[in-house]
Amino acid sequence: MLQDLSYGKLEIEYHNPDPTPDSMVLCFHEGNILLRRLADDSLMLPTVAQAETWCKEDAAGKLRYLFRLQGIACYLWMGAAMEKPEGFSYEPARALRQLTSKDLCFGILTAWHLYTWYQNNRFCGRCATQTIHDDQERMLRCPSCGNMIFPKISPAVIIAVTDGDRLLLSKYAGRSYTRYALLAGYTEIGETLEQTVEREVMEEVGLRVKNIRYYKSQPWGVDGNVLMGFYCDLDGDDTIHLDENELAMAEFYPRSALPAHDDGISLTREMIRVFEEGAEPR
Ligand SMILES: [Zn+2]
Repeated sequence: MLQDLSYGKLEIEYHNPDPTPDSMVLCFHEGNILLRRLADDSLMLPTVAQAETWCKEDAAGKLRYLFRLQGIACYLWMGAAMEKPEGFSYEPARALRQLTSKDLCFGILTAWHLYTWYQNNRFCGRCATQTIHDDQERMLRCPSCGNMIFPKISPAVIIAVTDGDRLLLSKYAGRSYTRYALLAGYTEIGETLEQTVEREVMEEVGLRVKNIRYYKSQPWGVDGNVLMGFYCDLDGDDTIHLDENELAMAEFYPRSALPAHDDGISLTREMIRVFEEGAEPR
């Protein structure tokens, strides 16, 4: 999956170190990120030294610590978008899932998650005062009423419905993503993850399930989620009643003839492969 980094995990723990000239800068602008695409199609972020040259203002005051990636501290650019320097371009952040710079892509998607959270919480939702950054934690604080605002992560489930040697695959309705997928949905307030699995399967395909077992999770900063993958067994009748607002199709496929393959990026694809190999939790 995308976050299975070759050198270890992204170091997300919050510290507040001062940037050094070779720290990396993530500068977003209208859904795009500033980067350099090299001849081998790998990606490179600008450094703090470069940002200081381009910005000519108090660049250090516009940097917010994010995490360490491959041992290098990364900062979010909090100022106005930088002009596009020679050799760099703005590319759509959500679309960056390529494998040549998988580590960097995961970093960018995680930074995007934090960027949108900072953007959406510049003012206190309780009293409308401008929020300030806390020095000790990754948190925004209201100086007027004391409201503490932590990063928002939305839990969602990915569901592999199995029936013996068959796996239920589906395709979304009305979306640009037209490949095979597993069922998925957000957890509602007051709901356990297992209840989310049961509800989503019933809503989307009208089936009952049992023997729900957890597989693995994946942070998915593109949409601010943490995805949790579950396998479950069909319980009873296999007649599918499709929610056509959500899905274009849903059908059981035999283990030996699954039309979707692991892309090394998504939990969904890994779960399909694991089922194909007969290695799913029982
Ligand atoms: Zn407030």
